[in-house]
Amino acid sequence: MQNNNSNLLNQNFDDFDHNHLWHPYTTLPAQYSNIVIDHADGVYLYTKSGEQLIDGMSSWWSATHGYNHPKLNDAVHNQLDKMAHVMFGGLTHQPAIDLGKKLLSIVPQGLDAIFYADSGSIAVEVALKMALQYQLTHNQPNRNQIATTRSGYYGDTWHAMSICDPETGMHSIYGKQLPVQLFVDKPDAGYNTPLAASTRDDLCTFFEQNQHDMAAFIIEPIVQGAGGMRFYSPEYLKLLRNLCHKYDILLIADEIASGFGRTGKMFACQHADISPDIMTVGKALTGGYMTFAATLCQRHVADSIANSQYSALMHGPTFMGNPLACSVALASIKLIEDNDYPQRALNIEKQLKKRLEPLNSCEQVADVRVLGAIGVIELYDPVNMPRFQKLLIKNKVWIRPFGKLVYIMPPIIMTDEEVSLLCERLTQVLMDYF
Ligand SMILES: *Cc1c(COP(=O)(O)O)cnc(C)c1O
Repeated sequence: MQNNNSNLLNQNFDDFDHNHLWHPYTTLPAQYSNIVIDHADGVYLYTKSGEQLIDGMSSWWSATHGYNHPKLNDAVHNQLDKMAHVMFGGLTHQPAIDLGKKLLSIVPQGLDAIFYADSGSIAVEVALKMALQYQLTHNQPNRNQIATTRSGYYGDTWHAMSICDPETGMHSIYGKQLPVQLFVDKPDAGYNTPLAASTRDDLCTFFEQNQHDMAAFIIEPIVQGAGGMRFYSPEYLKLLRNLCHKYDILLIADEIASGFGRTGKMFACQHADISPDIMTVGKALTGGYMTFAATLCQRHVADSIANSQYSALMHGPTFMGNPLACSVALASIKLIEDNDYPQRALNIEKQLKKRLEPLNSCEQVADVRVLGAIGVIELYDPVNMPRFQKLLIKNKVWIRPFGKLVYIMPPIIMTDEEVSLLCERLTQVLMDYF
């Protein structure tokens, strides 16, 4: 049957977008209009009406090399001429193998087996399945809940959502259908904040009390992203690693946002010098070119699953190991290594500190914090998005706040001049907004 809405073809595309396309976390019809982007190049987005916006978001952590990068374009073109996709069940290919070798050479020590997934949320689901199958093998069938801290974000699929912060993750919408997980308080704020004795005691008690129910503890190392844009001490992560060892509970590090140099280390786990049992990567994995992610684990996890009565890992997406995604991911990692992105992130950190910290003196600003190539301006009140969005075009900058948080994570290729320009324009948006 045809859609008999005769208006459809005649709607100009702004109206179509407004009335028919959902955007992330929005109502339909939308409450304000989206900016139409025609193309993107380097660190700039170009609107359909001809404005050039400097990019403060890296398209949610992913476009770490900016846009339209010649090396990444080549990687996709070259692979496209060979094959865009083949199923991964029973077949394999060079891009998957080459990427796998490269990934294992840069991740924290001990990670040794890879599951290619199609998005970050799926990588998290796979990590949780690994943990549950591991505990089954170890005759711990009651260890079937996942422990985590508050203020986390792990994606929007069902079980990933169940471990997100119960409030910002809007658990109340889905009520009793959502699996019940175990939450400990969020880590104390601040990378340089020493681990408080009370925090240590609380975490130890939490493990002692819940050890018989927990399959794994999942955390975003050092940076809690979409759950609150918070940074915390490497000492906290070290303590978690020790407690997981002590009780034979798996530690899952979600590096989907923090991975590939963003925090000033290749992976945020390296701030604490620890290796998780399971680790997820995504977002910048393909330099923002396409949706792709991976779940990595240590050999003892893979072996446990192999040696159980359920010896298969029960997951297998249609587009698993997509060759285009593998090729572009390999090219992306080479750029990150050859150009020392962790060091570049530290250079950006210095500049962001200098240029954003003065905003602390504004009465609307509650806190300014910076780690690596991540800058956060926390306001006292939630941002009025329709009003804020208008000021972006006026000031030629692209930033996407959520709630009280105005934050940037620019492409790591940004030059000093471009970082200054971004901060200048962001500051002007805030001045106009206040
Ligand atoms: C974005 C994100 C996810 C989810 O990834 P998607 O590709 O959006 O499904 C999971 N964990 C963290 C830490 C993230 O930042």
